[in-house]
Amino acid sequence: MKIARYKKAQKYLKFYYNNYGFHQPYQVLIDGTFCFAAFKEHINIKDQIPKYLNGKVKLLTTRCIIKETEKVAKKAQGALTILKQFGLHECDHKEPLAGSDCIMSMIGKCNDKHYILATQDRDLQDKLQRKAGVPLLYLHNKSPTLQKPSKASYSKAGQVLTADAHIFISETQNEILKNMKKALGVEEPKLPEKKIIKKPHNPNPLSCKKKKKPDANKMKKDSGVKEGKVRKRKKNKQNKIRIGVQNK
Ligand SMILES: [Zn+2]
Repeated sequence: MKIARYKKAQKYLKFYYNNYGFHQPYQVLIDGTFCFAAFKEHINIKDQIPKYLNGKVKLLTTRCIIKETEKVAKKAQGALTILKQFGLHECDHKEPLAGSDCIMSMIGKCNDKHYILATQDRDLQDKLQRKAGVPLLYLHNKSPTLQKPSKASYSKAGQVLTADAHIFISETQNEILKNMKKALGVEEPKLPEKKIIKKPHNPNPLSCKKKKKPDANKMKKDSGVKEGKVRKRKKNKQNKIRIGVQNK
């Protein structure tokens, strides 16, 4: 199981290497939530992350992240101690931002500094998954875990290098299919639109048939209508009789 974990990590790193130019030393940008979890689970980040990624690693954070962690220092003293061991990357925020906002600005449009993001913050993880080329590292069952590259990452990579898609087909067929459709272009969505326009033509004849059916029935029922009237009259007579009886 452990070997499989490392193999997966290598596979994902290779994907980021091939498609997004990630290389050693990997720049791991770490936030307070990750350190808090590491402290709680007694995980030595400095040992575990390079071991897991099987390469040279720079562990980094920002002033904003440290400031944010200082605000909750009583609860997160251990996390703060861990954070302060890491290198500081300049984020240029004169007024400190929330850690997650600072991270988003560090990544910018396309994560051109090749940060691997270490966070336990679910909301931030979701935001990062929507971006292409942002590897996500988190602690799962006391172990660092590299998240499978996001749909956005596969999709963008597919547009750049379609040949690489073959490697991943066995692994995530559904994702690949979706990404292939996206990569194959804007033309596809246009075709269904034309089909949709054609479809309304079919229901129209059906609605015409419905109109015809009542016509045919009327023809047949012309004789029946009289019966209907007779029946109604009978009923009316009966009713009148009953009413008459009741009145008397
Ligand atoms: Zn900042």
